[in-house]
Amino acid sequence: MSKINKNNISQIFDIVIIGAGPTGMAFASSFTDTKLKVAIVEKLAEKVIAKPKIDGREIALTHNSVNVLKKIKAWNTLPKKFVSKIKEARVSDGNYNYFLNFERNEIEKDCLGYLIPNNVIKKNIYKRLKKCPNVTFLDKAECTSINVKKEFAEIILSNKKNIKTSLIVAADSRFSKIRKKMGISAFIRNFNKDMIVCRMKHEKSHNNIAYEFFRYNQTQATLPYIKNQSGIVTTASKDLTSVLMKMDRKKFNQEIEKNFNNYFGKMKLVGKRYSYPMITTYTKKFISFRFALIGDAAVGMHPVTAHGFNLGLQGLDILVDEIKKATKYKKDIGSTNILENYQLKLHKIAAPIYLATNSIINLYTSNILPAKLTRQFFLRFVNTVRPVKQTFLNMLK
Ligand SMILES: Cc1cc2nc3c(=O)[nH]c(=O)nc-3n(C[C@H](O)[C@H](O)[C@H](O)COP(=O)(O)OP(=O)(O)OC[C@H]3O[C@@H](n4cnc5c(N)ncnc54)[C@H](O)[C@@H]3O)c2cc1C
Repeated sequence: MSKINKNNISQIFDIVIIGAGPTGMAFASSFTDTKLKVAIVEKLAEKVIAKPKIDGREIALTHNSVNVLKKIKAWNTLPKKFVSKIKEARVSDGNYNYFLNFERNEIEKDCLGYLIPNNVIKKNIYKRLKKCPNVTFLDKAECTSINVKKEFAEIILSNKKNIKTSLIVAADSRFSKIRKKMGISAFIRNFNKDMIVCRMKHEKSHNNIAYEFFRYNQTQATLPYIKNQSGIVTTASKDLTSVLMKMDRKKFNQEIEKNFNNYFGKMKLVGKRYSYPMITTYTKKFISFRFALIGDAAVGMHPVTAHGFNLGLQGLDILVDEIKKATKYKKDIGSTNILENYQLKLHKIAAPIYLATNSIINLYTSNILPAKLTRQFFLRFVNTVRPVKQTFLNMLK
């Protein structure tokens, strides 16, 4: 385990996590059954983290993710009135009526996944974290410098605190400053588009079906939420999204109704519209000596395939296993060979999903004729060739 000399040092931890987003907090909560001393450093005030604001993101979670949340005891406490089931997903292209569809019976479960507002997930994980006696929350603090030594890593915080640890785990978003400080670069792709997310009430039922419409000037998705409400997701050029963001509410409702060909009947905006720039990141390495990246800081996915947090949970689960194995055999949890197992396993899962997602976006945002033909062909191909469809279904399990 940790090889820190514990004499004369005021703050010593086994693991220091930077970033109290959902991934950092879920990771910290995973060590409650251990004797490890964990700290979580967050630049925002703890009261902001405790009561996260609505951010328009309705997070689609896979069964795998639910299992990780169950492991850290953050699933059964989620208020079920905020959770809805996605029973079917349909994907269409251009102006065609053909759908690629995924159904719950194809994965032998009662639903394909669950839809939960991001602020509800974050609040619930924070509540769980607060019940972990071995986790210290250090808020309103940024890391100003990191010094990795043979026996420990030293972190200086903006509040002048000096902490020492066996392992630093950065979970400080896809624009991770810590990653840069550690000299690790990332493949960054700017799609030069924005995604608008909002919730809308509608007249007709969504029947718990999620839709993705790859149109020629924009992509629109609907995510079936509770009580005849859906998360409406529009990805388009910055010009178009800025018009949609500023549009008065009545006109916006009419615009979205028209886009969906009145499929949901009358539609009405609930709350605000939120806009996010579409920038994806894939970090060139997820680890170095006494250092690991998790969540968006490791892989910042395009939200179109809803894999970001799902991948974050899968990754942290792998790292937690490696750390627990290492502590069992009294090994140094910051050693490169322990962390390399995590890196290898995460690359194996993340690289195919990241590349497939970016390729889908390339294809379905291209309007040249060969691409339009391929777009149609691809949907039919996936729908009819069983092993190909199974690959996509496996991502939902
Ligand atoms: C519109 C949209 C829809 C999405 N839908 C889905 C979906 O359906 N399914 C899905 O799985 N994923 C989805 N995602 C992705 C998901 O939201 C992210 O993967 C997830 O929020 C990443 O969590 P994180 O904890 O890694 O990072 P973040 O949520 O970015 O948290 C980072 C934390 O670190 C803190 N921080 C940053 N810098 C520092 C610093 N220097 N020092 C200290 N603290 C710092 C921040 O304040 C923050 O608290 C969606 C994303 C978007 C934008």
